[in-house]
Formats: sequence, structure tokens, C-alpha cells
Amino acid sequence: MSNYDLAIIGSGPGGYVTAIRAGQLGLKTVVIEKDGFLGGTCLHVGCIPTKVLLHHAELYDHFKNAAEYGFEVSGLKLNWASVLARKDKIVKKHAKGIELLFRKNKVESVTGWGRWAGPGRVSVENAGKKTEIQSRNIILATGSEARSLPGVEIDGQTVLSNREILELPEVPKSLVVVGAGAVGVEFASIFNSFGTEVTILEMLPRVVPLEDEEISAELDKSFRKKGIKIFTESKVDTVKKDAKGVTVSFKDKEGKAQTLQAEKILIAVGRRPMTENCGLEKSKAKVERGFVHVGPLMETAEPGLYAIGDIVAGMPQLAHAASMEGITAVTKMAGKPVQPLERSRIPNATYCEPQIGSIGLTEKQAREAGRAVKTGKFPFVGNSKATILGSHGGFIKVVADEEYGEILGVHIIGPLATEILAEAVTAMQLEATIDDMMAMVHAHPTVWEAMGDAFASVRGMQINV
Ligand SMILES: Cc1cc2nc3c(=O)[nH]c(=O)nc-3n(C[C@H](O)[C@H](O)[C@H](O)COP(=O)(O)OP(=O)(O)OC[C@H]3O[C@@H](n4cnc5c(N)ncnc54)[C@H](O)[C@@H]3O)c2cc1C
Repeated sequence: MSNYDLAIIGSGPGGYVTAIRAGQLGLKTVVIEKDGFLGGTCLHVGCIPTKVLLHHAELYDHFKNAAEYGFEVSGLKLNWASVLARKDKIVKKHAKGIELLFRKNKVESVTGWGRWAGPGRVSVENAGKKTEIQSRNIILATGSEARSLPGVEIDGQTVLSNREILELPEVPKSLVVVGAGAVGVEFASIFNSFGTEVTILEMLPRVVPLEDEEISAELDKSFRKKGIKIFTESKVDTVKKDAKGVTVSFKDKEGKAQTLQAEKILIAVGRRPMTENCGLEKSKAKVERGFVHVGPLMETAEPGLYAIGDIVAGMPQLAHAASMEGITAVTKMAGKPVQPLERSRIPNATYCEPQIGSIGLTEKQAREAGRAVKTGKFPFVGNSKATILGSHGGFIKVVADEEYGEILGVHIIGPLATEILAEAVTAMQLEATIDDMMAMVHAHPTVWEAMGDAFASVRGMQINV
């Protein structure tokens, strides 16, 4: 039995980042992780490996278009095994990095299944052996797992989740992706670049359905141009495995029954919170469909028990959201001043090609909220650096309050969207207006300077279009 200020169950970007900050704040901290490595979904089967593959896909696209840049490349060949090896190397390096950061910040870690065992107590089970940890505060950061469709079993060979698709021994000839959220469109983009025939099936009326409608329309257009087939408002009926792979039956927009054959199918229809068997049923914490309800500083209804990350009700399932939720909770625990995390200030990043970065309200949400809305839009075609990069599709859309110029939302699709989004996040966090941002100097030539034109476009004052 050991005594801690904080015990964190789960070492994903929620758990490990929170532990490091807790160490910095002087809290004696232990992390309990069921797997034999640190980093969770994000590092091992989520954010990082997918971004490695996306980067490789982008490089491959550049090589394929080498002639446009004045290079004569002959005999270009993809070495898939090397691509996968580099991905694994990057993941391992960063998992080791977390171990180092734990040591630096005096964070301890324990391997085993963690459970809330009563106020101030966590039980840890490893290979049938049970121990108990005592801790003044406990954070549950157990993350999420891929959902499947009713009646569809993920077998890891033909019917895949985000885990197995990262380990395919060969690039498949054809792939059906069910679900056009961030995970679905990222894998569609990766395998399209590597030469797979990709078809997306989405039940809702548009791809990336949580984004602004104009962003969805632009991605749809861009994907179709690249040869990705898309069926929206289409519901999967059955997935049958056969000698060649799978046959997927679905009803299309018109209600017509259709079938598709493919070598592999990826199920990317959302993620379920991992809160079973964590002791919550014995606590006062409110749990709904597996998601934990929390107060403004991530506290559950059980005193001393907090929840962060993918298991939290009403918050986005994103790595940076998980991390900041944890930082908020431990700052409070350490008795330091802290502001609750505002959902509208959490950015979204989707790294398909073209990339999408967004924050705040979509135009529709702003209108539905009764705001007097004024929008501006700046296409990357007017940005010289985007042209230099050979990537001038897409635009930046700004949703603002008509009267005071308050920035309500920013939606970007195009080159470096997930990077230049930083300016919009800063502006909203510091409550800058459109007029403040129009007075800001942007370096030239950068893709980033398109942000200046986008803010100015709300006032009809953009320079470059
Ligand atoms: C393919 C894919 C790509 C993604 N890309 C991005 C991206 O680019 N950007 C982004 O922001 N988000 C991305 N996400 C989402 C991101 O991975 C999650 O939001 C993030 O990992 C959530 O962090 P977490 O700490 O809540 O949980 P997780 O990362 O899921 O970590 C939870 C940890 O808890 C452990 N655990 C669970 N139960 C127990 C238990 N009882 N005892 C001990 N340990 C336990 C698990 O083993 C795991 O290590 C992606 C997700 C996927 C699937």
C-alpha cells in the first residue's frame, strides 16, 4: 500500500500529460496502465502512427508529381515495409520519451488494470495479483476503443479497426471505409495516395459531418477529384467475408440496395468509452452510456474522483482536449488559480489531404444560436506561398458577430490548415476581434498570412483576391 496525492488510471495523452503537470506542481503522482507501454491510443494506434502514414502519403504524392517540380524520377517504388518500420520507430521513440519525462518529473508508473475501489483507493490487478494504492485524488483517464456496426465482427484480417489497419502487410487493392469522420477520412486519404481503390460509406448527409457545411462540400469535391468514391446517406446492411475479401451491402441515398466488393473494410463509426470494470458502478459518479459526467474542473459526483479524456460526456474525443482537461483538474488539486476549459475553444484537426482545421461555431450553429452572423472567406488560390507549395485548393472561412466583430468560428481546408489554425485558436482564447486581427502583421510569403486576408474578408477588405 502506498500513499499518493494523485493516482491516474490510464497513460494516454490525458493520463501522461496530466501526470507530468502534477509532478511539476509538486503532487506525488502514480500512473496505472494496463498495457506494458505508456502513451495510450494516441501514441500507439491513433494520432501519431496515422500522421506518420499521412506524411509518407504526402511525400509519395510529391514524388508522383515530380515532373511538375522539375525532377525526373524513374523507377519510383513504394517500400511499404520500410514505411511501417519508420512508423513503429517513431512510436517507440516517443513511448520511451514518456518514460524519461516521468522520471524527470518524479512520476511513478505501475502496470496493471486499475479500478476505483472506494474513496482514496485504487486497486491494481496484474496477472491475477491484486495490490492497492492509496491516493488523495484519483483521475480516471481510461480512453476509448473502436465501435463496430451491429452484427459486424472486427476480425483484424479483413474487417479492420484503426488498430489492425496500421499493421497491414501490404497496401490493399481496394478498401471500403465505413464512416467519414476524422478517422475514416484520414485512412481514406492515406490509402488513396498509396494506390488503393477507396470507397467511403457515410450514413449522414455529408463527409466530416461535424465540420462547417462548406468544409464538407470542399472535402467531398476534392476527394472525388482524387478518385475516392463517396456514398453519403448510405446505411450498411451486411458485411460478408469471402475468398476475395468482403462484400458490403448497403442502401444508398435513394434507398436502392447496392453492393461493393473490396479486399478490406475499415470500420470507423466512432469510439466507445472504456469505463466498464473500472469500479464506477460503486461510486457516486454519474455515468451515461459509458460516458462520465463531470463538473467544470473535471470533478465527478464522487468526491476526490475526476474523469478526463475520451470517457467524458459532452467533450470532444481529442488528444489535446484530454490533456488540457487533466491539466485543469490537477491545477485545481494543487490549489492554483484555474479557468474551466471552454468547449468552444478546443480546436479540431483532421489531417487528410486536404487538411482541415477548425475552431468554434460553424455558420449554421452561430445562426441557430441567434447570433447576427457575418462571414468572410479567403481562397488559398490568392496566397502566393500556397501556389509555391503546389497546393492552392481550399479556403479559410471566418464566422463573426456582425456588430462587434467577435470571432465565433474559423474553418480552414487547405495547405497547413492544422498549423495555421493556431492563429485562430490564439485569437479566440485572447478574445481578439476581427479588427484586432486585421491590424496584426503577417510575415510574407507564408500560408499563414492567408489568415490575415480571411479575417479582413469579413469586412470585405481582403487584399489578395
Ligand atoms: C486512428 C485515430 C487517429 C486519431 N488522431 C488524432 C489526432 O490526430 N489528434 C487528436 O487530437 N486526436 C486523435 N485521435 C483521438 C485520440 O487518440 C484520443 O482522443 C486520445 O487518445 C484520448 O486520450 P485518453 O488519454 O482519454 O485515452 P487513450 O489514449 O485511449 O488512453 C487510455 C489509456 O488507458 C489505459 N487503460 C484503459 N483502461 C484501463 C484500466 N482499467 N487500467 C489501466 N489502464 C487502463 C489504456 O490501455 C490506454 O493506454 C485519434 C484516434 C484514432 C483512433
